[in-house]
Amino acid sequence: MNVTILYGGQSAEHEVSILSAFNVANAALEGGYTVQPIFITKEGQWLKGDLLNEPLNQVEDLEGLTLERMANPGELAEVDTVVFPVLHGPNGEDGTIQGFLEVLNLPYVGSGVTASACGMDKIISKQLFEKAGLPQVPYVAFNRRQWQEDQESWIQKCEGNLLYPLFVKPANMGSSVGISCAENQEELIEAVLEALIYDSRIVVEQGITADECEVAVLGNDDLSVSVVGRLVKDAQFYDYDQKYINNTVTMEIPVQLPEAVTDKIQKYALQAFQAIDGSGLSRVDFFVTSNHDIYINEINTMPGFTKFSMYPELWRHTGLSFRDLVEELIQLALRQHRARQ
Ligand code: ADP
Ligand code: MG
Ligand code: MG
Repeated sequence: MNVTILYGGQSAEHEVSILSAFNVANAALEGGYTVQPIFITKEGQWLKGDLLNEPLNQVEDLEGLTLERMANPGELAEVDTVVFPVLHGPNGEDGTIQGFLEVLNLPYVGSGVTASACGMDKIISKQLFEKAGLPQVPYVAFNRRQWQEDQESWIQKCEGNLLYPLFVKPANMGSSVGISCAENQEELIEAVLEALIYDSRIVVEQGITADECEVAVLGNDDLSVSVVGRLVKDAQFYDYDQKYINNTVTMEIPVQLPEAVTDKIQKYALQAFQAIDGSGLSRVDFFVTSNHDIYINEINTMPGFTKFSMYPELWRHTGLSFRDLVEELIQLALRQHRARQ
């Protein structure tokens, strides 16, 4: 059996995707699959590499492949393969690629069109979480037109319903891109303008002082949930540059919390996955205060797969190796495809 790995992509997480793809490719190769690498450039060109039969030694090998431009990515439909879209953010994790693969009638790893789109969209996912009764921080959502027509009243809504510091986010993004923390009205306006560069829909959230805990979900209908992990940050809570740019954050797996708290986090993670109608995998992220109040932050339908990424690490600590995890994801993709036929 052949696994097609889509990686790179047009999002800000292009580099993370390459690292993830390297690990996923090797796990699939070790599992006895052949791997067809397809690199999507930042400009959106699809480049097909040589078919791989043996594990790669280093990430650079993935970049050193003879890559040939695919004039028509639709030609993928002619191959007997299962696709692993190791792509994060817009144009990868948001249902667009999933829709394309759906049209080609190919099995693929992870959530379908609707779940991917809902998981990526921070406003829609909040509405679904609300419906499922999941606790979350107070927020206000609006779009560019609403902001431009009546900025004053949106500022009032934010300040009337939320306490500073506020987190201002583009609805559709990842990796903290376009997100800023505002301490006052002036910064709020600035933060909204910044977020509007990335998306026309904006969410403003009340900032919270809390630990960030993450949990992994795996499955289609029969769901498994991992142990809970925590991001160990040595700076202030909102210093997310550390997490993504300097990569100085370490993980505590499993997190040292009372069992009743971790049970609740795991239960919420499963509910969140079901709320978006997810399939395959997701990493669900929470805020946990010092009083052990739990708030869901977001769901990521295609989390990172680098050797140090939280998703595979959570599974490793739950007793599932990286290779077995990749194998399970491939099997889940095939089962999901059959179920749709
Ligand atoms: P992304 O999808 O880009 O990861 P997040 O919503 O997870 O977006 O926000 C990125 C980071 O910003 C979080 O991991 C956290 O450190 C910080 N953050 C986001 N929202 C809040 C909030 N309401 N209160 C405190 N910190 C927040
Ligand atoms: Mg995210
Ligand atoms: Mg996040």
